[in-house]
Amino acid sequence: NDQNDLYVWDRGRVLCDENGRAVRMVGIMESVTELKRLEDQFRQAQKMEAVGRLAGGIAHDFNNLLTTILGYSHLILETIEPDDPRRLDVEEIRKAGKRAAALTQQLLAFSRKQVIEPKVLEVNAVVANLDKMLRRLIGEDIQFQTELGSAGHIKADLGQLEQVIMNIAVNARDAMPRGGRLTIRTGSAVFDEAFIRQHVGARIGQYASIVVSDTGCGMDKVTKLRIFEPFFTTKDPSKGTGLGMAMVYGIVKQSEGYIWVDSEPGKGTSISVYFPRVQEEGLPLDPADAALALPGGSEIVLLVEDEDAVLSLVRGLLRSRGYTVLEASNAAEAVRISNDFIGPIHVLLTDVVMPEVSGRELADQLRQTRPDMRLIYMSGYTEDTVVHHGVRMSDAGFLQKPFTPDLLLRKMREMLDRPQDGMVM
Ligand code: ADP
Ligand code: MG
Repeated sequence: NDQNDLYVWDRGRVLCDENGRAVRMVGIMESVTELKRLEDQFRQAQKMEAVGRLAGGIAHDFNNLLTTILGYSHLILETIEPDDPRRLDVEEIRKAGKRAAALTQQLLAFSRKQVIEPKVLEVNAVVANLDKMLRRLIGEDIQFQTELGSAGHIKADLGQLEQVIMNIAVNARDAMPRGGRLTIRTGSAVFDEAFIRQHVGARIGQYASIVVSDTGCGMDKVTKLRIFEPFFTTKDPSKGTGLGMAMVYGIVKQSEGYIWVDSEPGKGTSISVYFPRVQEEGLPLDPADAALALPGGSEIVLLVEDEDAVLSLVRGLLRSRGYTVLEASNAAEAVRISNDFIGPIHVLLTDVVMPEVSGRELADQLRQTRPDMRLIYMSGYTEDTVVHHGVRMSDAGFLQKPFTPDLLLRKMREMLDRPQDGMVM
C-alpha cells in the first residue's frame, strides 16, 4: 500500500487453533487518509480565520494611530517655513506614515474589513483591461499571454479583483528573475457533489476561474502551506512584505470564492482563483442549472437508439447545447438518413445492441462513405463485454448506460476535438 496512506484498525479478532494458541488475526483496516486530509484542510482554514481576525484588529488600531501621525505632520508642514531645514524631516515622517497606511489597507483587505463596492463585472473585460499595465509591470524578459475563455460575469469589487490579479502576477514575475512565461487563463468551472466532497468548504455551483501560471522557481511544501499568511515572505525585506497573497486570500474569501495553489520546486506555479458566477443582471446562477455550463457544440450528430425514452433524452440534451441531431431508431433508418443527408455528419452516436443490425455493423457500413465521422457507442453492457462482441475501441468513444448529461456532453467534445489519426498536431 501507499506509504502515505493511514489506516486504523476498525474491528477484528484473534483466531486460535485447537490448543488455544493464537495463530492469526483477522479484521478490517479502514483507510483514514482522506479523513486526515480533510482535517488538515479544515485546520488550515481555521488558522487563516484566526490570523485574519488578529490582523483586522491590529489594522484598525493602527489606522487610528496613523491618522494622528499623518494629521500632525500635515499641520506642522503647513506652519513651517518653506526653507526650514526641518521640513525635509517632517516630509519623511509623512511619507513613512503613508506607506504604513497602505500596508494597513492591505491588512484590512486580508481581514475582509475594507469597504468595498461589489458590482457585476465581466471577468474577461477586467483581465483584458489590465493587459497593458501587467505588461509594464512584468517587464520584457517574460513572455506574457492571456487566453480568455468563457468566464462570464461575477459580482466583485473592481479594484479588488484587479489587486488579486496583479498581486499574483507580480509574484509570478518575482519567481522568474531570469525570464520565463506567464499565462493568464480565464474560464469556468462547475463544483459538483463529487468536488465538494473532496474540498472542505466548497459549495456547489458555477464559478468563473482565473488561472495564473508561471514557469518560475516554484514552491516547496512549507512555502505553499504558509503562502497566505500575512507577513510570510521568502523575499528580501526590501522587496517583500508578505502581504500580497494574504490580501488575495482575504478578497477571494470575501467574494465567497476559492483559491488553489499548484506548485513544485523547479516546476513553476499555477494559482487558480474561482469566483461564483452571476447572470449579467447580477442574480446568482442557480446551481441546479449547472448543466447550462456544460460544453456544447454546433456539429451534426447522427443518433441511433432503439429505446424511445433514451432517444428523446439524448436528443433534447444535444439540441439544448447547440448540436444538430439526426435521429434513427434502428440501423436501416440510420443508413437511409446518412445516404440522403448532403453535408458532413460529424459524429455517430449509437447504441451497440440493437435488433437486426448491431451498432458496430452500422458504424462499419457508414464509415465506408463517411471515413472522417467520429464514433461513440452507448451501451448498458460494460466496455469489456462490448469489446468482446467485436467492437474496436481504439478510435471510438464509449458511454456506459446509465450516463449523466455531463458525461455525454464531455465525451462528445472529447471525441470531436480529438485530432484525426495521422495528423497529430
Ligand atoms: P511577497 O511577495 O511580499 O513575498 P506574498 O504574500 O505575495 O508576499 O507571497 C508570499 C510568498 O509566497 C513569497 O515570498 C514566495 O515565497 C511565495 N510565492 C508566491 N507566489 C509565488 C510564485 N508564483 N512562485 C513562487 N513562489 C511564490
Ligand atoms: Mg507578493
